[in-house]
Amino acid sequence: MKKTIALISALLLFSWSSYAQHCGKCQKLSDEQYMALADSIHQVAISFDTHIDTPTYMMHPNGHYTVAKGQTSFELMRQGGQDGAFFAIYLDQGPWQNQKSLDSAYNWCHEELQSWKDYVTTRHSQEAGIAYSTDDVYRLKKEGKRIVVLCIENGYPVRTLEDLDEFYKMGVKYITLSHNTPNQICDGSRYTNKYYWYPNTGHGLSPFGEKVVERMQQLGIMVDVSHISSESLVDVLKIVKAPVLASHSGCRALKPSQTRNLTDDEIRAIAAVDGVIQVGTGRFFLSDDLPYYKVGVAILANHIDHIKNLVGYRHVGLGTDFDGGGGVIGLDNSSQMKNLTVELLKRGWTPEELIAFWGGNLLRVWKACEDYASQFKN
Ligand SMILES: [Zn+2]
Repeated sequence: MKKTIALISALLLFSWSSYAQHCGKCQKLSDEQYMALADSIHQVAISFDTHIDTPTYMMHPNGHYTVAKGQTSFELMRQGGQDGAFFAIYLDQGPWQNQKSLDSAYNWCHEELQSWKDYVTTRHSQEAGIAYSTDDVYRLKKEGKRIVVLCIENGYPVRTLEDLDEFYKMGVKYITLSHNTPNQICDGSRYTNKYYWYPNTGHGLSPFGEKVVERMQQLGIMVDVSHISSESLVDVLKIVKAPVLASHSGCRALKPSQTRNLTDDEIRAIAAVDGVIQVGTGRFFLSDDLPYYKVGVAILANHIDHIKNLVGYRHVGLGTDFDGGGGVIGLDNSSQMKNLTVELLKRGWTPEELIAFWGGNLLRVWKACEDYASQFKN
């Protein structure tokens, strides 16, 4: 599969360079031509959205979840030329110093993960499969199936290091350490321990959190730094042995959201460990210049370009946060992914850069984490 992709990529790059040579100074491509080029890029790329809150909605479409809008389904992904997504089991933060609450968070997370796995493997096995490794990703792409990757948004259900082993066995590929508020692992991006029950260890990783990060990397579970405090990010980057990802975060230079966006220094620090920033599409976090309901693909692309200009295209991707508050005009469900590809092509992105953006960068980080973990007995 890798050889086939390399061959098609070479052909695509050849036709791109022919276009660049012959048409660089003549009229622009038509919208149809741009879309045709986007189509061929999506055929070659292994494209990932690294953060979707859809499992809750897909499993409980008539539930009481107010954010869910059905922005993703396997059919919508297929229409959008999107191969895979990290489907998150999300947990609200509760009181983590109460064992009963921790146990109930763990049990709920475990049940939701199992239900989601059953949903994919029993009801949708013809059209989708779960990837437990990067090798599975290439196999599922070859089979033409949507690639489902499991993840947990908020480390709240992690009571012990053994819980990490259990989540790893279930197939969890990243854990977002906290969700805005402090937990037993680290301080969150919105509320700090000043207002909460966090022990007096500063605003970063707790001593338990340090062990969690270490064990996650030994298992090959990627460390997700979206939603954590700046101090926690500094602490994480000090101790990691493999790259990290920010599964859905934007740029604070373009929209000063302390809770959801990264500073330029933080972006540089994540790139310095060869990590990747997957830009989110929550329109509240993308622009100050426009009312949120007018935020479209171009504003999203500004964040993507900002990261590319700062640290290079190898460190940027997309994590829409669909069914969790994400979506902009023109990219409001998984069937519309190619609109972003067209926007980036118009801004001068090459097919090679776009193939990296859509999945190559993420797969590099995932593989590096797998390689690091391979030295430990798991
Ligand atoms: Zn989130």
